[in-house]
Amino acid sequence: MRDKIREIEKSAIEEIALAADAGALEKARVKYLGRKGLITELFKNMGGVFPADRAEVGKLINSLKETVSKAFDDKTPGLSGGRDSKAQKIDITLPGIVREVGHLHPISKTIEEICGVFISLGFKIVEGPEIENEHYNFEALNIPLEHPSRDAFDTFYLADKWLLRSHTSPVQVRFMEKNKPPFAIVIPGKVYRPDATDASHSFMFHQVEGLAVSDNIKFSDLKGALTLFARQMFGEKIKMRFRPSFFPFTEPSAEVDISCILCSNELRSTIPALPAGRHDSRKCSLCGGKGWIEILGAGMVNPKVFKNVGYNPEKTTGFAFGMGVERIAILKYGITDIRMFFENDIRFLRQF
Ligand SMILES: [Zn+2]
Repeated sequence: MRDKIREIEKSAIEEIALAADAGALEKARVKYLGRKGLITELFKNMGGVFPADRAEVGKLINSLKETVSKAFDDKTPGLSGGRDSKAQKIDITLPGIVREVGHLHPISKTIEEICGVFISLGFKIVEGPEIENEHYNFEALNIPLEHPSRDAFDTFYLADKWLLRSHTSPVQVRFMEKNKPPFAIVIPGKVYRPDATDASHSFMFHQVEGLAVSDNIKFSDLKGALTLFARQMFGEKIKMRFRPSFFPFTEPSAEVDISCILCSNELRSTIPALPAGRHDSRKCSLCGGKGWIEILGAGMVNPKVFKNVGYNPEKTTGFAFGMGVERIAILKYGITDIRMFFENDIRFLRQF
């Protein structure tokens, strides 16, 4: 057996050395290392070796296999036409391929920033489906049949009463059905409305909604949370204004404004990149001279919504708010056209 091993090693090394091209080398590889090759056969014949010698013979065959494999590997790059011949053609003097490192889209960045503020207040992130049914998108949220948002012109209807959600509020209902208070959640996501696209409208945009539910939540809690949010996003000196409004799913409801980040003099320091001329409140392009900008809608959850999800409306209280992410990003970064977010112009995206 030992002689045979030595013999095979000798002939294999010779044949490898003599192989003139990749074809000959491959033939030799099959002859020695193939499934029915000579070295493979040696392993199969181990049964005929005396038990006392098996360990030693096994070692010899293993080292034979290693030696021969290495001889093949050493020889391969020197031959043309083989399977590794491509390796030979690499010109190491050519400049490398630079892989550009990407970064978050301004919308993703804004969503993370908004959610980050509420996470620091103990909110958890929850997400839900973009294809909804009328129950979750409207009925459970106390939106009556005659409400204009249920019109076919104001919602993307799919077949069989399915639709593309027009707000992220259905996720509030889905979450409340499966969880008991107390809880505080934020819901980021895409929403769809068949609006004609222009500088301030898009048929798809993003929202972040918030919902906090417990047995003793007051309007002052809502004010506190939103004031903290606005200051984190737009600067410590931001002033807040709550205007009475109406939403079917909250009562009372409010539109929430912040003091204009362009023309409010004391806030100039937070937006250093803007030209000085734009800070004149009489011709402010952002607020039209009003001094206030609407940023979101909010309110105390309507007891009917609690009843719809099986909570006791007498004992449950909560606040909810919802904002457009594009609107926040436009204000924060001084962007003039919502379409820029979705055109994927690399020159625009590189600025963030
Ligand atoms: Zn202004």
